[in-house]
Amino acid sequence: MRYEKERQELIDCAREMERHGLVTLSGGNVSMRTEEGNFLVTPSAMGYDTMVPEDIVLVDAEGNTVEGNRRPTSDLKAILYIFAKMPQVNVVLHTHQPQAVAVSLIADRLPVISTTMVDELHAEVQVAPFTISSDEGMGVSTVEYAGKSLAVILKQHGIMAYGKSIEQALSAAIYLEETCHVYLLALATGREIPELTQEQIEAEDTPRGYYGQY
Ligand SMILES: [Zn+2]
Repeated sequence: MRYEKERQELIDCAREMERHGLVTLSGGNVSMRTEEGNFLVTPSAMGYDTMVPEDIVLVDAEGNTVEGNRRPTSDLKAILYIFAKMPQVNVVLHTHQPQAVAVSLIADRLPVISTTMVDELHAEVQVAPFTISSDEGMGVSTVEYAGKSLAVILKQHGIMAYGKSIEQALSAAIYLEETCHVYLLALATGREIPELTQEQIEAEDTPRGYYGQY
């Protein structure tokens, strides 16, 4: 079996998504571009607790199974569309994370309201109009509404988060949920919510000082 390490990384990522309350049961999915231009994707309707590397499906760009006995995620068409249109993206996550879905019900964008949002998502996050699930439309919307951000909220459905690596895409999804939570808390007060200015966003997004370990 090829890509054993990467398959385990996908499972670990899905479990992190579950641990952070972004998915429940078999909800959501994780997918990754391989060096040779195929894609590893989580299987359809299987819980993450008992998932093993063999359950991850290797597919080609057209969605044909290259290696694996499971049916791939039902969102495969949408995911392959994103990978095709966004060559800089190596990992795509899909979740039904509740705070983001709540924002999708009442807003058409999540404005830049915090430094965390700039650091992890880089720009405001758009809410794409409703499309049905398990359909290529989710992918088309994601590409159309991505802008400079590392995530798109899908109205009345969930989110797509993406990045160069699992770490980047997972951080985007987790901090999107945190920021949506903050936004909803602030909205509940009924007071006006200040957004960061373009100048503040650029200053925050400029590499400087240090953060993290050697
Ligand atoms: Zn979904």
